[in-house]
Amino acid sequence: MENNKKYTAATICVQGGWQPKNGEPRVLPIYQSTTFKYDSSEHMARLFDLEESGYFYTRLQNPTNDAVASKIAALEGGVGAMLTSSGQAANFYAVFNICQAGDHLVTSSNIYGGTYNLFGVTLRKLGIECTFVDPNASEEEIASAFRPNTKLLFGETISNPGCEVLDIEKFARIAHSHGVPLIVDNTFPTPINCRPIEWGADIVTHSTTKYMDGHATSVGGVIIDSGNFPWEEHADKFPGLTTPDDSYHGLTYTKAFGRNAYITKATAQLMRDLGSIQSPQNAFLLNLGLETLHLRVPRHCENALTVAKWLESNPKVKWVNYSGLPSNRYYGLSQKYMPSGSCGVIAFGLHGSREDAIKFMDRLKFIAIVTHVADARTCVLHPASHTHRQLTDEQLREAGVAPDLIRLSVGIEDVNDIIADIEQALS
Ligand SMILES: *Cc1c(COP(=O)(O)O)cnc(C)c1O
Repeated sequence: MENNKKYTAATICVQGGWQPKNGEPRVLPIYQSTTFKYDSSEHMARLFDLEESGYFYTRLQNPTNDAVASKIAALEGGVGAMLTSSGQAANFYAVFNICQAGDHLVTSSNIYGGTYNLFGVTLRKLGIECTFVDPNASEEEIASAFRPNTKLLFGETISNPGCEVLDIEKFARIAHSHGVPLIVDNTFPTPINCRPIEWGADIVTHSTTKYMDGHATSVGGVIIDSGNFPWEEHADKFPGLTTPDDSYHGLTYTKAFGRNAYITKATAQLMRDLGSIQSPQNAFLLNLGLETLHLRVPRHCENALTVAKWLESNPKVKWVNYSGLPSNRYYGLSQKYMPSGSCGVIAFGLHGSREDAIKFMDRLKFIAIVTHVADARTCVLHPASHTHRQLTDEQLREAGVAPDLIRLSVGIEDVNDIIADIEQALS
């Protein structure tokens, strides 16, 4: 695969990343090695000083991980990427790479429960404050949450579990008019359906645990750097990138690495100091998932749209939120940002009590109740009693989660069998 040619997503999914040279393994090898050998101590020293690129310890870089990260960077249209041990680690590092104690961030309130806790509770303990905003509020309202020490704006392309669609261009405008980057968690659409960088996002994150892996085998995450944010123009806001790093003999990331400053700092500093690297074995499995991402995602969307239409026409169903439905409040945004499909996840509520929702889920046969979403097998979850049980009712509503919300992750089985299972459980 020539590196200078622009391939489309399907070809990158299959061929991107690992580029074997003459006589090397065709399939991405698992470099199951913590360390790498050098003949001279001086060579190793240059690597430690970031004067030369090369492998020395898997916590910092590993060839298997790098191949997979470069495939994902190509899919998202970024200049570089870093794999992490989980989606949580990806969002934490994406933020912590440019925030420190005394800083502040603004985030959409319609985000994954784990991210909501990370921002609202754990980052606060580290001295980083955050303001949650309604992503559907006006630009003026969202802008009013910004402070002089605000370092970033954050949102999810399609929120988990509420299935609300982010107006990425609006968020990018607000972030850039305040001289800060927009970070978008693009887990649900994947780059097959949406490439947030093309709409102005500066940094993109994923829980690769979901569609990218696609088979529910490995927890993982990734951060992609667009290389587009002008850190030097806002140098006073981002001293970690634009002033010398004492832990690298006074190297300045923006001067030494240009458009790769952000992602290089994330690897060289955060991963070095905090760990949370993805294991090469998991990166290998993630790569197998990525090889069919372009085939699986359209099938998830096609099945989900059929199921959403069926649910919408069923009298036992009170409401359905799926942005692919023409009746949906997010249909316009969804068509703009994800014209070929949104994702396989549907949020809906039943008439009746909370107990009726639980009874419905317990009666499902092959559709399983699992704390997972976005893999090949159809599954279901009741966030208010499972993933989000630590949130109060008010926080639930803020996070776009109605107490009766059932999250249905539509898999790639035969859609008639999926509907039949739902139908028998509803009756
Ligand atoms: C699951 C998820 C996360 C967290 O990822 P883990 O891999 O479970 O740590 C973050 N964001 C979104 C949108 C998710 O769905």
